[in-house]
Amino acid sequence: MPFLSDTLNAVQPSLTIAVTTKAAELRAAGRDIISLGAGEPDFNTPAHIRAAGIAAIEEGRVKYTAPDGIPELKVAISEKFRRDNQLSYDPTQVSVSSGGKQVLYNALMATLNPGDEVIVPAPYWTSYPDMVRLCGGTPVILEAGLEAAFKLTPEALEAAITPATKWLIFNSPSNPTGAGYAWDELKALTDVLMRHPHVWVMSDDMYEHLIYGDFEFCSPAEVEPGLYDRTLTVNGVSKSYAMTGWRIGYAGGPKHLIDAMRKVQSQSTSNPCAISQWASLEALSGTQDFLADNRALFQRRRDLVVAALNAIDGIECPVPDGAFYVYPSIAGLMGKTAPSGVVIANDEDFATALLEETGVAVVFGAAFGLSPYFRVSYATSEEALAEACARIKAFCDRLS
Ligand code: GLU
Repeated sequence: MPFLSDTLNAVQPSLTIAVTTKAAELRAAGRDIISLGAGEPDFNTPAHIRAAGIAAIEEGRVKYTAPDGIPELKVAISEKFRRDNQLSYDPTQVSVSSGGKQVLYNALMATLNPGDEVIVPAPYWTSYPDMVRLCGGTPVILEAGLEAAFKLTPEALEAAITPATKWLIFNSPSNPTGAGYAWDELKALTDVLMRHPHVWVMSDDMYEHLIYGDFEFCSPAEVEPGLYDRTLTVNGVSKSYAMTGWRIGYAGGPKHLIDAMRKVQSQSTSNPCAISQWASLEALSGTQDFLADNRALFQRRRDLVVAALNAIDGIECPVPDGAFYVYPSIAGLMGKTAPSGVVIANDEDFATALLEETGVAVVFGAAFGLSPYFRVSYATSEEALAEACARIKAFCDRLS
């Protein structure tokens, strides 16, 4: 009898985490590594938020809390949804978990039965399909490449829906592409969903505040109020507030789903870290002024990286609307040979050779379900980005 479950054997470990871990190991071993792997801001959590965490420790607010969040934080999240998204979620319709990942996992665990299908547009954030599999469902992958601006079309969505479809996982701005759906583009998708009342939407809004130029963020239940009763609106403090390690994600949704998610969490982790919850309360209800500064900072980095990558023969890098990733195509480099003799047959070969030969860590496109591409996280200093892009150019120029 095999020891590991068939369910576990059907999934792979998170490749974004694997690349980040590998880069850290190489650096610890003394290699000169620039990691463009991890999707997390390179600066500290703002001081007033850190202070709220310290105060929670000092004041002894360190005990178990309600399994899916302290009431004060649920109220702040409810107000955040009203303020930023014109969505009315009562605090009883709010769930708080250890990161956006746990929110998504709870919702899938609470709702999927064997045979249930979940539509996942590709390129996707690496964990979506494997979370679906872990929870017993079947991911249905819909590819949209560079020529489609990495966006799902209403026609493709319509064609993919079957009687077994339970969820669409929607993510804008997207990890890994940074592509964002404008209001009318999203409305075209929600119009399709309105014709299929059995399909729910899980909207991962994690990059809501990281948007550039004139792009305006919108969320499915905001664009189509008719979907409110079958939408889970997911968000978190990790990216916008530089709080990745605090692990706080949250969602608003129909009360019966939130209750079911609480049941899953009460039998797994119980409450997310109490200290992090108090810090997140400050993040969401304190000043939001620094968000604009962060946006300006990331937009400069985006522009630097896009320009530098587009100057490389064989790389084509579209300009993303948000998040802190670019997802350039390397179709022009496939089949070439590195000076080491390694043939670059796919994007994993490219990322591996790039790391070995230049010390630049990126995540290969296959991890996100669409090749041949690679993901750069530009949440690092401009100096490091410029140096990394110079190394990528030198590497690509040496391919023959
Ligand atoms: N979401 C981030 C990324 O894509 C953090 C790592 C993870 O959880 O995947 O890099």
